Amino acid sequence: MTKKILLIVLIVLSVTFVSGCTNLAKDFSEKFGNIEKPDNIESSAESASDLLSSETDVLYQVSTIDALLQGVYDGVLPVAELATHGDFGIGTFDGLEGEMLALDGNYYQIKTDGIAYPVSGEMLTPFAIVTYFEADENFRLEKPVNLTELENFLDLNLPSENLFYAVRVNGNFSYIKARSVPRQEKPYPKLADAVSTQSVFEFENISGTLVGFKAPEYVKGVNVPGYHLHFITEDRNAGGHVLDFEMENGDAAIDITSEFFMELPTSGDFYNVKLGQDLQNDMEKVEK
Ligand SMILES: [Zn+2]
Repeated sequence: MTKKILLIVLIVLSVTFVSGCTNLAKDFSEKFGNIEKPDNIESSAESASDLLSSETDVLYQVSTIDALLQGVYDGVLPVAELATHGDFGIGTFDGLEGEMLALDGNYYQIKTDGIAYPVSGEMLTPFAIVTYFEADENFRLEKPVNLTELENFLDLNLPSENLFYAVRVNGNFSYIKARSVPRQEKPYPKLADAVSTQSVFEFENISGTLVGFKAPEYVKGVNVPGYHLHFITEDRNAGGHVLDFEMENGDAAIDITSEFFMELPTSGDFYNVKLGQDLQNDMEKVEK
């Protein structure tokens, strides 16, 4: 057991070394507490936000979208550590096993059965984006909109195209189509090929929350330009990466995140993968 914890701490050390993080063992045990003792979430979230109060408008990202597109799926950061950087976000897990969604400080793994499973602090992520969600602007949507119409509506109301936004929409959906991707085996295929094995779920007449981000065009290669949304049902039992929907009505909130922090893997496939290539075609395949 001690050996295992030491190993995990070493992984955290290797991942966070470049960020100049100190006092990791203490941080780590606190973080583990956060995840494994749900009763403590309120108090620990408070202490985390006290510590990181200046970080609430920081979008914290692990790895890059192009690394993921190229098949860099080995998890590098424990969710316990990720959770200290935000209570809201999206991503995936070690081996590309399912869709990650974080909402109100709870982390979920949506597997290929469409079910949202609780996540333990030891689970690793190869790619994730999180922040502390604090609504800066709220919009009531009274009329039905599909995914494209929602994006267009939000675009009209965002103060600038050049910032990052966290987007949360509580809605009533007559229809929603979502997907999840199964765990991949090595040698890992590229993401465009991995998603050919995705499971697609369709929900009808369901309430739930869209969780995600709008990133500016100029982040191509680093993050997904435009909107990237995941979904979870109101009862927090099911969801996925959003492909399409018809929303009858809903409440949208945006959080302007003016700071961007990216943590890169300091080992593994990330070292050798050829980044900086034009992966536009891959990106289009992945989003269908
Ligand atoms: Zn996704």
